[in-house]
Amino acid sequence: MSGTLNLEAIRKDFPILNTKVYGKQLVYLDNGATTQKPQSVIDAVDRYYQQYNSNVHRGVHLLSQQATEAYEAARKTIASFIHTKHEHEVIFTKGTTDGINLVASCFGRAFLKPGDSILISAMEHHSNIVPWQMICEEKGATVKVIPMDTKGVLQMDALSALLDDSVKLVACTYVSNSLGTVNPVRDIIAQAHAKGIPVLIDAAQAIQHIPVDVQELDVDFMVFSGHKLYGPTGIGALYGKEEWLNKLPPYQGGGDMIKTVTFAKTVYNELPYKFEAGTPDMSGAIGLAAAIDYVQGIGLAAIQQAEQELLQYALKQLSQIEGLRFIGESPERSGVISFLYKNTHPFDVGELLDKQGIAVRTGHHCCQPVMDFLEIPGTARASFAFYNTFEEVDMLVAGIKKAAAMLD
Ligand SMILES: *Cc1c(COP(=O)(O)O)cnc(C)c1O
Repeated sequence: MSGTLNLEAIRKDFPILNTKVYGKQLVYLDNGATTQKPQSVIDAVDRYYQQYNSNVHRGVHLLSQQATEAYEAARKTIASFIHTKHEHEVIFTKGTTDGINLVASCFGRAFLKPGDSILISAMEHHSNIVPWQMICEEKGATVKVIPMDTKGVLQMDALSALLDDSVKLVACTYVSNSLGTVNPVRDIIAQAHAKGIPVLIDAAQAIQHIPVDVQELDVDFMVFSGHKLYGPTGIGALYGKEEWLNKLPPYQGGGDMIKTVTFAKTVYNELPYKFEAGTPDMSGAIGLAAAIDYVQGIGLAAIQQAEQELLQYALKQLSQIEGLRFIGESPERSGVISFLYKNTHPFDVGELLDKQGIAVRTGHHCCQPVMDFLEIPGTARASFAFYNTFEEVDMLVAGIKKAAAMLD
């Protein structure tokens, strides 16, 4: 069985997919944790260090100008990828976690008062829970939660009552990394905006699977990580509407984020530099742009279709394993399958799969509240990328059957 993409050619672009583990062909199904990198990304980073490594926004010399141009071109690539109105609405960060901490800290310092609240969802990653708890504790505010049902679907009928006057911001994930649920973010944004409340979307598991247009979504803040989008680690982006970014105070202080400094007073730089203190991750930004170019070369719509076909095939094949239980059964979902086998611990299944060369993740996936709510210790999770094949799904199924025989 074959999908809609030319996977033979595509897989050649990712050198690591040829790796053997324990003498077996690697089957990499841990893309929700991080994705593999195409040669073009590795080359772009390599080229930067070999040919024009230099600090940006500083030097008069040629290499510094080249580095600055490439760094700003990377910002432009991201801006057009997510359809921002202005390029300066893209702030380079270390990743999703860093972006949420930036917004939580700056928004909280500017706008949170005792009695206020931040509304998140029941399926957030720890990085979209803890930064809000930290700033709320500091400001005497609280964190409220949109509940979900046992299938992993947000209870949208509870939203309207939750959006009371105390709520100053809604922070919600687009796609759940532990359950695969695709949330109705358009509806959430519309309901929040109807009450004048801004929304931050965690797009860490969406940006690589679903075409995203920030203007069409009308989202106020959006964050994602480069490494889950086939780019390097240590780089990511925050999108913020210009009016919101202008209203927020700076995050960190340092070089590049200033216009003038005296011991008496500092005048901050304009967007986007106001939020980019210190020497940025130039090679990371350039690598991320190369990753976006690669993804756009294939096309996100084609990627989305191929991944959905793979997901449907995997769900069908896996559902035939007796004793296997899916965790997360939202009708709207992306290529993440969390499961448990009978009453065994997910770690045991994961380890037995690993010995067969099949990489999945086990544990709470940085979503302890999700596991507590479902009263499970964690899950084994297979998460797909467009370079995964139907044969790899078959190998996963065979691998689980083999593990099951040992665990029974
Ligand atoms: C991975 C992930 C994060 C955290 O991303 P980092 O790259 O670790 O900063 C946040 N939210 C979701 C939904 C994720 O999948």
